[in-house]
Amino acid sequence: MDEQKWRKDAACLHEVQRLVDIGWVAEEAYDLWFPLGSECEGVDAAHARAICNGGTWPGADGRVQESCCPVRRECLEANIDQKHGLFGGTTPKQREQIRSNRLRRNRRRAVRA
Ligand code: SF4
Repeated sequence: MDEQKWRKDAACLHEVQRLVDIGWVAEEAYDLWFPLGSECEGVDAAHARAICNGGTWPGADGRVQESCCPVRRECLEANIDQKHGLFGGTTPKQREQIRSNRLRRNRRRAVRA
């Protein structure tokens, strides 16, 4: 998929806009995808992870929201080397594991060829 095409469907962009519309500062809204802590697995990351992966969280109006990003796969592939932040619903540690698994798989294929 064309890079610009998938980005316009990014659930985080729509969520940031929603938060800005209810009074958040845009930078603070974007920071939800860059939570403190190298593993991005704490409570601070729960909202962003729910937007990426699907899940429920209390919205600003107190009602339960549900979401899952439609371009999670494209986002992950475009950001597989990112060392910080949540992309494709993955933490930096998870992306490192994916890269490592792919490398091992490719080496095994090369040995067999
Ligand atoms: S998967 Fe990527 S594009 Fe989708 S909400 Fe998460 S960070 Fe944004």
